[in-house]
Amino acid sequence: MKQFPYWWEHAPRDAARPQTQPQKIDAAIIGAGFSGLSTALILARAGLSVVVFEAGQLGEGASSRNGGMVGPSFHKLGITGLKAQYGEQKTNEIIRESVGFVDFLQAFLKAENIDADFSRVGRFRGALKPDHYDKMARELESLQEACGVSGAMVPRHEQSAETGAQNFFGGVVYHTDGGLHPAKLHDALADRVRQAGATILPFTPVEHLERSDTQFKLTTPLGTIVADQVAVCTNGYTGAQFPEFHRRVLPLRSAMIATEPLPSELMARLMPKGRMCGDSRRIVAYYRPSPDGTRILFGSRATGLKDNPAKNARLLHNSLGEIFPDLKNVAISHVWSGLVAYSFDHAPHIGSRDGLHFAMGYCGSGVARANYFGQKLAHKILGNEEEGRSSFDGLPFQTKALYSGNPWFMPMVLNWHRLADKLGL
Ligand SMILES: Cc1cc2nc3c(=O)[nH]c(=O)nc-3n(C[C@H](O)[C@H](O)[C@H](O)COP(=O)(O)OP(=O)(O)OC[C@H]3O[C@@H](n4cnc5c(N)ncnc54)[C@H](O)[C@@H]3O)c2cc1C
Repeated sequence: MKQFPYWWEHAPRDAARPQTQPQKIDAAIIGAGFSGLSTALILARAGLSVVVFEAGQLGEGASSRNGGMVGPSFHKLGITGLKAQYGEQKTNEIIRESVGFVDFLQAFLKAENIDADFSRVGRFRGALKPDHYDKMARELESLQEACGVSGAMVPRHEQSAETGAQNFFGGVVYHTDGGLHPAKLHDALADRVRQAGATILPFTPVEHLERSDTQFKLTTPLGTIVADQVAVCTNGYTGAQFPEFHRRVLPLRSAMIATEPLPSELMARLMPKGRMCGDSRRIVAYYRPSPDGTRILFGSRATGLKDNPAKNARLLHNSLGEIFPDLKNVAISHVWSGLVAYSFDHAPHIGSRDGLHFAMGYCGSGVARANYFGQKLAHKILGNEEEGRSSFDGLPFQTKALYSGNPWFMPMVLNWHRLADKLGL
């Protein structure tokens, strides 16, 4: 079993290491995932001198490792939770803006002529209990009222048209969701950033950040560099060098497996419409066909913060076999994992703190959002008020007393949710 993302088979990583860095630039972007690269793209095209610093190889972070599933990523709290926190008007604005994320991404791919196997196949979400089905129906109804989202309930007796899984009590389909090849998108974005004149420096972690009145001094293994503007786009990989963000995000490890190629009749029975899939369990499980339709890629939360491929592969394979008993003994070709960032209010955050710009906290749904927020962030930096505005502006980016960035309690929380899923709570 290979211990790297299935995606990298078609988009291998580049091992080249830079030897030098400039001394003075307009904008430093920390983190070369979707957030950092899309921020860099807009800034560089506006004529700023831009360097993107990446601690690892290009694509080290979540952006080239994820499931490639794109959707509005409605707030994890659901409409009711959102309204309780932010009121009716803000909630409706957030929902409406979120519905546009996939349109934004589709238009961007088209405008940039990027081939990332994007396809708007829709998403099926199975209900593990009858009352989950009822809750899904209520949620769909309120989303349709709030923003006319396109979806349909699928009763149990019709679900074989959507999924080969037997244990659901029906489910819901969201028609406008889609899927893509994240590593192809990531590579293409990096190419566009370079073509726009920005420099990307992989294997160049920002180890220290010092601010004076109007500028920042960044220290990396290649020396020091002065920048007028700094954007922190490190999401689940945010380190203690950035304490104001480190204590506001909860890193969680998400893992994936890919099956070996499966017979085409089996693929057609398990995923008849080739949709992105998930279900109603507390510990999220997400699965999809590979873009060529030959295998299933399956993801869920990993067992701990550190990577443990053997344990993750076992755990995920078991869950896959519970959903699709036909796959209990199938061979697994790849296992991999990466870090996502949760926030205490389950919402992504964008803005500036003490002069540092940031976009992060996508709560495990960042493919469309990180690309979108990255561009918004760039417009904010450029002072383009209209293009930079978002309904997510100004949401309080909370932390908790005594939380300094070490989510030691998360394994226990996740284990509780796993148990609750097993007990059907
Ligand atoms: C296994 C997995 C599956 C997922 N599936 C989906 C999915 O199907 N759909 C979806 O919408 N979302 C999914 N996600 C989430 C999504 O991938 C992320 O939300 C998104 O990629 C975040 O992008 P980003 O650019 O903000 O962060 P990242 O892509 O994580 O990039 C942050 C980068 O910052 C770098 N960095 C950190 N510190 C420093 C430093 N000091 N100096 C320089 N660089 C630094 C890191 O090395 C990293 O490369 C998944 C994530 C994972 C891990």
